[in-house]
Amino acid sequence: MANCANCGRRITAFNSDPHFNFSDQTLCQNCSDTFNSLLMDNKMGWNSVGITRRFIRQNKDRLRLNDSGIEFLLSYADYIQKNNPDGAEDEEDEEKLEEEELKRKEEDLEKRIALSKMLISSGFNFEGYRIVKYSGYISGDDAIQIPRSGIFDRGRNGENLTDALVKIRRRALIELKEAAYDLGCNAVIGVDFDYLTLDPETASLTGGTVYEPYVICVTANGNAVVIEKIED
Ligand SMILES: [Zn+2]
Repeated sequence: MANCANCGRRITAFNSDPHFNFSDQTLCQNCSDTFNSLLMDNKMGWNSVGITRRFIRQNKDRLRLNDSGIEFLLSYADYIQKNNPDGAEDEEDEEKLEEEELKRKEEDLEKRIALSKMLISSGFNFEGYRIVKYSGYISGDDAIQIPRSGIFDRGRNGENLTDALVKIRRRALIELKEAAYDLGCNAVIGVDFDYLTLDPETASLTGGTVYEPYVICVTANGNAVVIEKIED
């Protein structure tokens, strides 16, 4: 009998899996079980070979595949595809998926650039720009927990209250900018921050009071607008 195309272990007739058996090559029970269970966890089968092929490449570590195992499974996918009347469609599926991924990456980049260029102001106009569209009131928020003991001390990660506030304010601003971007805007005016502190407590099992860490929320508000540079 042959050896496993992936791990090289000798395969007896008893443990060979007919599912992964073609052109004199095969996988041992162990390797095909690992592979099959991962396919199943991801709700995939061999019916969409293009997608399965991508899956093999992306998950080679989790599948514990070495180079010869990958090669075997990829050519097995080819073999299935050749014997599958819908094979051509699968190839298109794979191309479409790659195209979509590329498009997503481009959109991500575009968004990041737009966010970094977005102008925000606590005022209601920008020097040298005119507002051409008002898209409405938007907000972004974030929250943190502050331990009750020593709120002005540095915490476990070397962070104190001020650092934490800076961080949540920044994240609230990023959310605000994203909300403006989603509305097709390139600026936010009238920006200000609202803060909310919570002093949560609950009852313990024995009927006492448990004081939970303080919660500080910050909300950034503003009006999303489209601005245009004034040419003169
Ligand atoms: Zn094996």
